[in-house]
Amino acid sequence: MATGGENKDGDIPLAVVGGGLVGSLQALYLARRGYKVLLFESRDDIRKSDSWVGRSINLALSFRGREALRAVGCEEEALSFAIPMYGRMIHSLNGKMSSQAYSAEGKAIYSIDRLKLNQLLLNSAEAHPNITLCFEHKLLRADLGKQSLTFKNPEGEKEVSVGFTFGCDGAFSTVRRQLMRWDRLNYSQEYIQHGYKELHMPPDSQGEYAMPPNYLHIWPRQEFMMIALPNPDQTFTLTLFMPFKVFDSIETEEDLLSFFMKHFPDSIEKIGGDRLVEDYFKNPTGSLVSIKCYPYYLNCSTVLLGDAAHAVVPFYGQGMNAGMEDCLVFDECLENVTKSGGGLENLGSAAKSYSEMRWRDGHAIAELSMYNYIEMRSHVNSRLYLIRKSIDDI
Ligand code: FAD
Repeated sequence: MATGGENKDGDIPLAVVGGGLVGSLQALYLARRGYKVLLFESRDDIRKSDSWVGRSINLALSFRGREALRAVGCEEEALSFAIPMYGRMIHSLNGKMSSQAYSAEGKAIYSIDRLKLNQLLLNSAEAHPNITLCFEHKLLRADLGKQSLTFKNPEGEKEVSVGFTFGCDGAFSTVRRQLMRWDRLNYSQEYIQHGYKELHMPPDSQGEYAMPPNYLHIWPRQEFMMIALPNPDQTFTLTLFMPFKVFDSIETEEDLLSFFMKHFPDSIEKIGGDRLVEDYFKNPTGSLVSIKCYPYYLNCSTVLLGDAAHAVVPFYGQGMNAGMEDCLVFDECLENVTKSGGGLENLGSAAKSYSEMRWRDGHAIAELSMYNYIEMRSHVNSRLYLIRKSIDDI
C-alpha cells in the first residue's frame, strides 16, 4: 500500500467532488496514501439502482483505464463483468459483415457496464476506512481561498472546510466554474452538430447474442453511424450518432422504419420493429460537447480530473480511460513530492506538476476524438482504408 500522505494540518479532510467513475477512483488513490477523504456526490446512492439514468449504458474500457483500476486492486473484478472486443465488425449496407482486428497479438478492449463499474468503485471506496461517502450533496459554490465548500443536501445548505479540493464533477463542473472566477483559467467548449440516442438489441430466439459478441459493431454511413457494444446478458446496447437535423426529421413510426430500412436494414429484424420504435421515441437524444481548459489546478487548493478537466466527444472511446489515467498520473506526481515528506502542501506541488504534464494530453485526446468521428463513420468503410489496414495487418 502506498503511503506518505496523512492530512496533517489538524487532520482536515480532503474533498473529492463527484462520485462518478473518476471521483470514486480518485478517492481510492488518496485514501491508500493515508489521506482522509470526503467524497461528495450530488445524486442519491446509485448502488440502490439497477438501471442507469444518464449517459451511455456501457463503455469501452481500454489499457489506460485498466492500468488505473489495477493500481487500486479493482481491475480483476471489473474485468469479471466485462466482455472483450477483439476488433471492429463493420456492417455494410448490403448486410455483409467484415472484421478488423484491433491488434495482431489478439489484444482486446472491454465492453463494461457503467453502472456496475461505478458501483464497484463506490463499494471499494466505502470499504476503505479513510473515505466517507456523502450522497445527495451538490456543490453550490466554493471559497477556494478559505477552502470552504457549500453543498445543498436534503437538510438545506451545508458549509464544509476541507484541506484540498479535487474537482471530479464532470463536463459541467461546478469546481471548474469556481476556479475560472478565481484566477486565470483558459476555457473553451464546443458542441458538435451530432447527437446520440441509445437503442437496445435483445438476444435472438435461441437466447444467444444476435451478432458475434466479441466485437465493437459499427454501421458507418458517412454523415452518421450506429455502433453496438455487447452486454453480459446476451444483449447489445446500440448508439445512433446523427446530426440533430436528421433526428428532427424522423417524426413518425413510418419515418423511422423507412430510415432504418434504407440505412441499417440488417439491424431491424435483430432489434425488432416494435422495440425499435418504442426505444427510439422514448429514449432521449443526447448532445455531445468537447471541453478544454488550462491549467488544471489552483495553487494549494484545487485540481481538476476527468471530464471536469477535459470532456471529449466519445468517438475515440477514451473519455473515461483518460480520466482514470489522470488519477494514476496525479498519484505518480504525489509519489514524487512525498519523498520529501508528507502533508497537505504536497498536494499543491503534485497538482502543479500533474497539470503541467497532463493538459497537452487532454487537448490531444480532444482533437483525436473529433478526428475519430470522421474515421469511424466514413474512413473505416473506404476502399483505401481497407487496403491500408490489410497491409498494416500483414
Ligand atoms: P462523470 O461521469 O460526468 O461524473 C461526474 C459525477 O459528478 C457525477 O456522478 C455527477 O452526478 C457528479 N456531480 C456533478 N456535479 C456535481 C456537483 N455540483 N456536486 C456534487 N457532485 C456533482 N469513455 C470511454 O473511455 N469509453 C467509452 O466507450 C465512452 N463512451 C461514451 C459514450 C457516450 C455516449 C458518452 C456521452 C461518453 C462516453 N465516454 C466514454 C466518456 C465517459 O462517459 C466520460 O469520460 C466519463 O464518464 C467521465 O467520468 P467523470 O467521473 O469525470 O465524470
